[in-house]
Amino acid sequence: MNAMTERSERGFPGEGLAKGLAVTFKTMTRRATTQQYPDVAPELPPRSRGVIALLAENCTVCMLCARECPDWCIYIDSHKEEVAVPGAARPRQRNVLDRFDIDFSLCMYCGICVEVCPFDALYWSPEFEYAEYDIRDLLHDKEHLGEWMATVPPPPAHDRNGEPAKEETTAARKAAPGAPSAARPAAARVRPEPGPAAGGEAS
Ligand code: SF4
Ligand code: SF4
Repeated sequence: MNAMTERSERGFPGEGLAKGLAVTFKTMTRRATTQQYPDVAPELPPRSRGVIALLAENCTVCMLCARECPDWCIYIDSHKEEVAVPGAARPRQRNVLDRFDIDFSLCMYCGICVEVCPFDALYWSPEFEYAEYDIRDLLHDKEHLGEWMATVPPPPAHDRNGEPAKEETTAARKAAPGAPSAARPAAARVRPEPGPAAGGEAS
């Protein structure tokens, strides 16, 4: 390797300094992206996973969320109550929610509980300012989880170019003139006579 090649590989004297200053000046003229939290509230996407809100009226105590939670941090207690139904021979039983707690010190914000709830009782709220000095205070009870409902954003508008909901398609098909009746043909409803093959022996 001759001296000329070696010098050209090393660059000219002060090249590193010039490159560094160029980066500095480029960055100085760029708009800062630092968010001045907590003086300025951050602009979070509406579907941010901040805290879980509970709509207790919708909860049927089916226990799906508690069973599917990978961290076992949902605690539910309930009792049964008899409800008199006009015209019914016997009173019906329904579950009454006594306790619904989520321990946010264990929660990993996976969202499984919100996804599996079949009765739309759990929602994500983007609120995240609920840090506590005592870790035990991160256990939010039914009332506390219910208060977060006020911060749940409205659902996004339907995609105008998306497929219509299955329920809408089915209702439109049934309402169309000349649509076949949903009832099954009478012949299909005739019960077959019990025979020897059916295993039914008359007593
Ligand atoms: S977000 Fe995940 S970890 Fe947290 S309570 Fe729900 S299922 Fe459990
Ligand atoms: S899955 Fe929904 S309805 Fe069932 S216990 Fe959980 S919150 Fe209640």
